[in-house]
Amino acid sequence: MDVSVDTVIRNASLADGQRSVDVAIAAGRITALGPALPLRGAQEIDAQGDLLSAPFVDAHFHMDATLSYGLPRVNASGTLLEGIALWAELKPQLTQQALVDRALQYCDWAVARGLLAIRSHVDVCDDRLLAVEALLEVQRQVAPYLDLQLVAFPQDGVLRSPTALANLRRALDMGVDVVGGIPHFERTMADGAASVRLLCELAAERGLMVDMHCDESDDPLSRHIETLAYETQRLGLQGRVAGSHLTSMHSMDNYYVSKLLPLIREAGVAAIANPLINITLQGRHDSYPKRRGMTRVPELLAAGIEVAFGHDCVQDPWYSLGSGDMLEVAHMGLHVAQMTGQDAMRACYQAVTSNPARILGLQGYGVAVGNYADLVLLDAPDPVAAIRLRAARRLVMRRGKVLAEAPRAVSRLHIDGRPAQVDFRLQR
Ligand SMILES: [Zn+2]
Repeated sequence: MDVSVDTVIRNASLADGQRSVDVAIAAGRITALGPALPLRGAQEIDAQGDLLSAPFVDAHFHMDATLSYGLPRVNASGTLLEGIALWAELKPQLTQQALVDRALQYCDWAVARGLLAIRSHVDVCDDRLLAVEALLEVQRQVAPYLDLQLVAFPQDGVLRSPTALANLRRALDMGVDVVGGIPHFERTMADGAASVRLLCELAAERGLMVDMHCDESDDPLSRHIETLAYETQRLGLQGRVAGSHLTSMHSMDNYYVSKLLPLIREAGVAAIANPLINITLQGRHDSYPKRRGMTRVPELLAAGIEVAFGHDCVQDPWYSLGSGDMLEVAHMGLHVAQMTGQDAMRACYQAVTSNPARILGLQGYGVAVGNYADLVLLDAPDPVAAIRLRAARRLVMRRGKVLAEAPRAVSRLHIDGRPAQVDFRLQR
């Protein structure tokens, strides 16, 4: 053994089912991968058969609002609309420093959870654009360890709010990466459709991606996704556009959906569901039976559409829980969509890893030779067990450097005459 590299991770399992794999890392990239590699690492790590995965990716988040729960009060009704009203109360009280501090705190949580790429919407409806400045600063500070992609998001409606369009253009000029929107919050269906057209044209002019909050509503007639697919096709934006939430699809007529799915597929529009949020926000006007409200994830996947699960919110006006754990997001998505088959559960894991990585356009992502050594070692043997256990992140690595470590989750029992430890990873 005369060839040495920076690090060799021994005896790992991979998300595609390969077992007993060694992974060699040099200069921040994966340089070799296979069984019993005849290489010596300056650092040798024993994976003990656990799952070595590409990092988690969150395709939908709000980092300007995160960790503000209770400011200035909590959301009493638990609805989307009270959340938006509450955020409007909080906005004038925000300071740039507080925004930066909260966002950096969240990024620490994210790294500890193996979440190394986040697409965050940033509200552009405050004329001071404080949140935009703050998150651009955060983006710069976290760049060595976390990919933060920003979406210019007109929370109060790009047409409904008088200064939103000008602010959105300013935010893009300042370096925000993606064009956002919220057609279902515009005053009328016609304005919603006009906002989609306007924003897609803006993205086409500037060569940018689009990610809209789209049809986050229980109204089965909220059909802005149709316009989003149409405009994507018309402007040649295929593969650069995502529709976030799409919850009205849950309530739509089945015949209409059978026409809609191929249109979304044809336009190459990705769908981003946010299961933790939408299982709590949707159906609030229902008595019983009560709608779940999440978009039609298995049907979107079966139609060949790219689907990701996003976290959306952590401790903010819309959601009081969360900790940056994308396995919790996948766990909820699996339940709400009833994706309980083995392939379906693995698809839920892909919805928080490889699928959002493609939506964000991440380069060098994935456990393969030549890609970045951005890796997470989980306290679980495979993706399904990782979701079941919301497994501890034994090790989080970016560009070959260890950023975070955590012990395996083992409890000690104090019951006479019984085994002293409980190992939750054992199956059967
Ligand atoms: Zn959102």
